[in-house]
Order: sequence, then C-alpha cells, then structure tokens
Amino acid sequence: MVRGYIPDFSQAAYLLLNWHEGHPEKSFWTTTRVKKERGIPIGAYRCRKCGLIELFADSSMAAQ
Ligand SMILES: [Zn+2]
Repeated sequence: MVRGYIPDFSQAAYLLLNWHEGHPEKSFWTTTRVKKERGIPIGAYRCRKCGLIELFADSSMAAQ
C-alpha cells in the first residue's frame, strides 16, 4: 500500500475526489499545496446489503 491523502476542493461545483501520493504540504494561499495533475480519480463501490463502501483510485474512475 502507498500512503496518500484526499484533498477537498471547496468550490461551487461537483468535483470528483482524487487521491494524491505522499504527505500534504501547507500553503499560505490555498491552505494545502496540491498539484492537480498528479491526482488519481477515486471511485466508490457500495455493498447493497450492509452499505460498506470501498474506495479505489484508478484512472478508469475519471468522469466519462
Ligand atoms: Zn456488505
């Protein structure tokens, strides 16, 4: 497994979550410095019986 983080961009839009490898870095202007081009789209699968959700980071999870 590889450590990463999921930054939340608070903008007036529906945005897909992305996973970023490594540790988040502080930024004076944007709170957290994130290089958007390095993010991997996250998809979520939900169990219909118990509601358990599993997340997967893969380029195939990008918006179509
Ligand atoms: Zn289940």
